[in-house]
Amino acid sequence: MAQLTDDCFAFGGALLPLAEAQLQIAAIFACVVGAETLPLPRAVGRVLAEAITAPVNLPPFANSAVDGYAFTHADLSQHGETDLPLTGRLAAGQLPAAIPPGHATRIFTGAVLPEGLDTVMMQEDCRVEGGMVMLPAGLKRGSNARPIGEDIAMGQTALHAGRRLMPPDLALLAALGLSSVSVRKPLRVTVFSTGDELVDPPSPLRPGRIYDANRAMLLGLLTRLGAETSDGGILPDRRDATASALREAEGQSHLIFTSGGVSTGEEDHVRGAIADSGEIAFWRVGIKPGRPVALGRIGSTPLLGLPGNPVAALVTFSALGRPLFDRLSGGVYRAPPALFARSGFSYLKKIGRLEYVRVTLDADGVAHRFPKEGAGIITSLTEADALMALPEDLTTLSPGDIAPVIPLGLLHG
Ligand code: AMP
Ligand code: MG
Repeated sequence: MAQLTDDCFAFGGALLPLAEAQLQIAAIFACVVGAETLPLPRAVGRVLAEAITAPVNLPPFANSAVDGYAFTHADLSQHGETDLPLTGRLAAGQLPAAIPPGHATRIFTGAVLPEGLDTVMMQEDCRVEGGMVMLPAGLKRGSNARPIGEDIAMGQTALHAGRRLMPPDLALLAALGLSSVSVRKPLRVTVFSTGDELVDPPSPLRPGRIYDANRAMLLGLLTRLGAETSDGGILPDRRDATASALREAEGQSHLIFTSGGVSTGEEDHVRGAIADSGEIAFWRVGIKPGRPVALGRIGSTPLLGLPGNPVAALVTFSALGRPLFDRLSGGVYRAPPALFARSGFSYLKKIGRLEYVRVTLDADGVAHRFPKEGAGIITSLTEADALMALPEDLTTLSPGDIAPVIPLGLLHG
């Protein structure tokens, strides 16, 4: 888009860096929901209310990682083959009898390693003849044996408070013998769209109107985060109507999202409506797409006013809405991990703002710029693979440069 002004200062002041906006969120807000205990399968997606200390060792006993023959490593010759007499047979779930010194035992995956035996050779690598097992040289001590507490030792922190529980976390909790867990109650979140041009699908589209895309996306994002969502509908471009709808939602919600109407135009009324019933913490953040985005509160309820263009709405939800949501729900926000790709294109950007460029990634890990770049291009979100995050101080990206990318799927997780 052609810009006549230096848009870093287009609204009469420097843009707030994203990192500072995120710090403000962490400083202003705290957890607003209580805890409840849920059985593990129902706790997925919820935020852990208390740290979990391992009540037992995992695994609880030393055991074999393979089907094979267990022995004491000191009995193995370092050079030639070692022949050891075989005693006993141990399957998973059975308790071992004592194995005489200098003997090996038949053992299966998951079976308890008998006292004194420390190494297991895979059955494919051994020969058995006449009650003896022939073991080739070269295996390291402890091979194919899983020591007690190797995964996590009793008393260590298994999961930290504030973690959003994913299916592998449930595996860990169950493996430690827990059947239920204390998690945060869901956050109640109301989502509004704003704009006289918006129509709810599937109503007929009259001239000059477009369908509301953002509400479905935002409600979907929040549902995936385990929120109890309320659909606030579409607000007209009027300050009084916007203010009264926001006030009504305030009492029923822990958090309110709006999209659209947050810029400086005469038809943008969200900031005015926030000012009427609360206050604004910031509304100029140095990210593109995404500026402006307004953080404030209505009464005591936090509100994030996202931009109207769907790409900008998703980017700001991920960069600011997610940290805010996590903070209020007792979660610890973690920025998507830095992955890196090689740029296949050149790009010039303004200093002082973080830019997210939509890219596709080819099989060689080279990032190609998505050809349509408008912040309203929804197919750029459905067809691109990632956002390339170009930092504030960068002005020139050249082909071959390595840059951080955030897979789009991580924005929805
Ligand atoms: P605004 O921030 O209200 O000026 O909106 C910026 C652009 O995003 C305009 O082209 C709007 O029509 C569009 N827009 C705003 N809200 C939505 C929405 N909910 N769904 C799709 N487009 C929207
Ligand atoms: Mg609008």
